[in-house]
Amino acid sequence: MTEIDLLVRAEFLYPVSPGMPVIPDGEVAISRGRILHAGPRQPEGSWFPTRTLSGEAKAVLPGFVNCHSHAASLIFRSQTDDHAAKAALLEVAFRMEKDIEEEEWALLAEAGCADMLQAGITTINDIWYAPHRLAETVEACGLRAQIAHKVFDVRLHDLWRGDYTHHAGIGEERLRDGVAFAERWHGAAGGRITARIGTHATDTCAPELLRAARAEASRLGIGMHIHAAQSAAEVEQVRAAHGCGPVELLRDTGMLAPDVVLAHLVFAEKGDLDAAQESGATYAHCPTIYPRRGRYPPLEDIMERGIPTGFATDWMLNDPFEGMRNALNAMRLRLGSPTALSCAQALELHTIGAARVMGLQEEIGSLETGKKADLIVVDLDRPHLQPYYGDYAALVYYARASDVVTSIVAGDIVLEDGRPTMLDRDRTLAHLKQRVPGWRARLAALGSRAVFGPGCPCCG
Ligand SMILES: [Zn+2]
Repeated sequence: MTEIDLLVRAEFLYPVSPGMPVIPDGEVAISRGRILHAGPRQPEGSWFPTRTLSGEAKAVLPGFVNCHSHAASLIFRSQTDDHAAKAALLEVAFRMEKDIEEEEWALLAEAGCADMLQAGITTINDIWYAPHRLAETVEACGLRAQIAHKVFDVRLHDLWRGDYTHHAGIGEERLRDGVAFAERWHGAAGGRITARIGTHATDTCAPELLRAARAEASRLGIGMHIHAAQSAAEVEQVRAAHGCGPVELLRDTGMLAPDVVLAHLVFAEKGDLDAAQESGATYAHCPTIYPRRGRYPPLEDIMERGIPTGFATDWMLNDPFEGMRNALNAMRLRLGSPTALSCAQALELHTIGAARVMGLQEEIGSLETGKKADLIVVDLDRPHLQPYYGDYAALVYYARASDVVTSIVAGDIVLEDGRPTMLDRDRTLAHLKQRVPGWRARLAALGSRAVFGPGCPCCG
């Protein structure tokens, strides 16, 4: 009999391990934050656990890995979804960002972490303002995270006027802050928090800043994170200024390497994909945002090239199940094939695939002996999930974020009965809701077409 901390039983265990077996009547034995066994239920008396979670009507799978996120940006929820995304982003979101106080970002980061925890996300790769405050929340609430400060050298709030002037002083200061963040937080919370250098995008950073950021990341021994080929405007800007595509520009500045996460690649052309492929850089694909914007990235080409790929939520709905379904539906529609992407592949892309994008594939992303115990429990006792036959489609096409009842990170229960255990969700939401009228007024003053109030074209 082996003493263990936690035994998690499952009616169906999805380890997302090589060969992708689904194991009926499985269990995961956890000791000191790591997996001792993940497989068929062992004979009674094999384990002496401090605590056991019953597997009755439960599916158990690796925690979702979200390889490109902005936890705090839910302040702009619904503001760019139905109202000409580009204009709403540049004229409203980018202009409002600069006046948001650190306390507001901290509150938003808390709400974002609660939202992601409740959706079964156990690891995030975040790039945003006030990273120290996000890191404090991550440390407290039990998530695993790679975090980067948002580095750029244009005035984001002037982009709506077409002013892309690079200001070296802005870039130097933001990079300095990004380095200071990394020096303070890389390896913190028992290794749950690591840092990246987060150059914002290829059109909002001059080549000199990209080179300097690469030098700092290499000096610190940490990776990088950047939006690349995410919009037509960015591609246009980079082509006009440098005569090449966005990822080609990153290659030419010497930034590309296997430790660089490229988000989006929606408008990537052959030269960009060649550059990504040759460098070993990885790719964060955000299936929920692309259909809303009317253009889907060349996912099949990217995967065929062997570019390590994983799924992410960006700053859209944090429901990994909806994300997987969006990818499946988009790919099947585009390729005119009901097998263009399989449910098993979709689950891989949101777990081990996304872990690989972040360089964490040896530690998390699948349930295998020796890996860190990051896993979630899905309650199958729900009308929309029954009858449950235990295949991949049953989980991926039918489950919802709200079916996740328990999440475990490094062996610690961070979500129980669908509620975060180490973050006061109700208090956070109460504080957040108090701020909404003020935010609505600021959005309206900037001309948001998505809010009601003075200045709104619908209501005068
Ligand atoms: Zn993003």
